Amino acid sequence: MVSTENYKIKKAPTCPHCKQKMTKTVPPPYSIGEGFGWGVSYFWICFNDDCALFVKGWEHMKENYGKSASYRFMCLPDNGLTETIAVFSHDGLRGGIVEEDKGEEEE
Ligand SMILES: [Zn+2]
Repeated sequence: MVSTENYKIKKAPTCPHCKQKMTKTVPPPYSIGEGFGWGVSYFWICFNDDCALFVKGWEHMKENYGKSASYRFMCLPDNGLTETIAVFSHDGLRGGIVEEDKGEEEE
């Protein structure tokens, strides 16, 4: 497990698409591409269902891929890199949300 001490972004960043605070989330047990592990113990995700990126994503995926899916805006805390991550329902990835008041559970 990667240490979080050197992470650049330790406080919830703001989503540039909707100006909402992003949520600390643990990575899903799958990776988005071959040879690409997450390499982080958590990342930041915008869970705003009204987020422009999320709303447009449904249309985009439907039109281009005929799929019922969208993506949410995410930010990697270690280097500040921003990405989008595919979700297949409004609840996608919510299972990984870290409640801040519980504190860190990692060692
Ligand atoms: Zn957003």
